[in-house]
Amino acid sequence: MPDARRPLVAANWKMNGLSASAAEFSKMMEGARELSAHVDIIVCPPVTLLVRFAALAAGGPVRLGAQDCYPEPSGAFTGDISAEMLRDAGASAVIVGHSERRSLHHESDADVRAKVLASHRAGLLPIVCVGEMRPEREAGRAEEVVAKQLDGSLPDGATAQNLVVAYEPVWAIGTGLTPTTADVAAMHGFVRRRLASRFGAAGEGIRILYGGSVKPSNARALMHAGDVDGALVGGASLKADEFLAIAGVYR
Ligand code: PEP
Repeated sequence: MPDARRPLVAANWKMNGLSASAAEFSKMMEGARELSAHVDIIVCPPVTLLVRFAALAAGGPVRLGAQDCYPEPSGAFTGDISAEMLRDAGASAVIVGHSERRSLHHESDADVRAKVLASHRAGLLPIVCVGEMRPEREAGRAEEVVAKQLDGSLPDGATAQNLVVAYEPVWAIGTGLTPTTADVAAMHGFVRRRLASRFGAAGEGIRILYGGSVKPSNARALMHAGDVDGALVGGASLKADEFLAIAGVYR
């Protein structure tokens, strides 16, 4: 594995967490100190907690991310938050194109691509989510769907340093269902080949995370499947013990 593909485990807290969650975050940071020699850790809380968590995380091994950004840097976009604002609040990464945003907010691949470009402009690391829906997998179209999302969502010039891909089969998110490790390895291999054919050597180094119902009991198998460079974790990332147990498979 090239150096650039150091394992990465990212927490997506989604719309969960109030100021009292700082205690759980502090617990995560404590545990992460022991893991940081082996794995990168990014926690993406709701944006309301970014500034507070950034103060807690200063100088520690946990980096912070956001869960979405608006493509424009500033202006009359009521309620939206730019990549520059996230960076200013203490984020160094941002999840873009999560399936919940693609479905609930009708985000297209072009929208996602604009957000990746915005994150680059602001100096944030985008974690770009792709993944098929259940009927698409059942129809044998999973690779076709993921290929289209990758082609449309990733801008030219992606490298190991400026982009992470998260393969998240939509039917596995929050359901307790997961693909077999063989299916995960097959899709990650497919994504790897697609990245390499478009971005050359840079594509070989881009990390590909698996996401969808990762928990301590299945993390070892999923995260050691071929071409899996880490995990994007939703529900199980809300509890420090569970999240640290998942990241701990790389110990
Ligand atoms: C996610 O929302 O990115 C996710 C992977 O969720 P969960 O782990 O809860 O399936």
